[in-house]
Amino acid sequence: MIDRDYHLHTAFSNDSTQDMEESVIRAIELGLREIAITDHFEHDVETFDFEGEYGLNRPAYIAKVREMQEKYKNQILIKLGVEIGAQPQLADYYPGELRRDPWDFIIASCHTIDRIDLFFGKVQEGKTRDEMQDLYFRHVLELVKNYDCFSVFGHLDYVTRYGGPQFRGLNYERQFPVIDEILKTLVAKGKGIEINTSAFRYNEGRFYPHPDVVKRYFELGGEILTVGSDAHRKEDIARDMDRVSDFLKGIGRKYITVFEGLQARFVRI
Ligand SMILES: [Zn+2]
Ligand SMILES: [Zn+2]
Repeated sequence: MIDRDYHLHTAFSNDSTQDMEESVIRAIELGLREIAITDHFEHDVETFDFEGEYGLNRPAYIAKVREMQEKYKNQILIKLGVEIGAQPQLADYYPGELRRDPWDFIIASCHTIDRIDLFFGKVQEGKTRDEMQDLYFRHVLELVKNYDCFSVFGHLDYVTRYGGPQFRGLNYERQFPVIDEILKTLVAKGKGIEINTSAFRYNEGRFYPHPDVVKRYFELGGEILTVGSDAHRKEDIARDMDRVSDFLKGIGRKYITVFEGLQARFVRI
């Protein structure tokens, strides 16, 4: 059983309106033992006509997480997490910024290429699915080589999510060499990956990354794996966790990873 959700967003993220306390109450109602709140920390991105606060208000965010930790300390363990939008030009920016605050857990994700969020579909224009995946995974490889300030890399192959149906489906055969280099780099650095169940909600029929990629990470000696729903609303908290525990048990894995003060610890599933 997986009763920990290590990827949650609240209204402190630019793409969520979910009240944090309602999420905590929902997690308690679901019987979860632990959650990591991981709101978006993005910097230097093209926001087009997006109105409102794009960056993370870290002092207010941290104060709110601390308030929740204290108020619900007898009911659920709440970790202070963050999801950074990793970009090549910010490899020196994030470490300095992240050092200021006492994070438990940091997800590094690739949401943008050339400062443009894949969500908009613009990066995909004029490209085939394979060209898009070539571009994305080479980009991720540069990121994992140049970044150290994270615990796990987020939704490793979610490039299949956006751009339309023609971009669906990981071509793992074609991407195998570069994905292998990404995984080997992560293993060598002692960094983890996450299983992100949001893919089910995008009708990908699987989680991120593809199960074969997770198996390969373990084969290469990787051990650090967190599991998260990437919920942006409380209804999605802990969704499809049973599918993850079935998969992990099916391949003989008995542990997932939790973090405190950026230190990994293994817990039984
Ligand atoms: Zn993300
Ligand atoms: Zn997220």
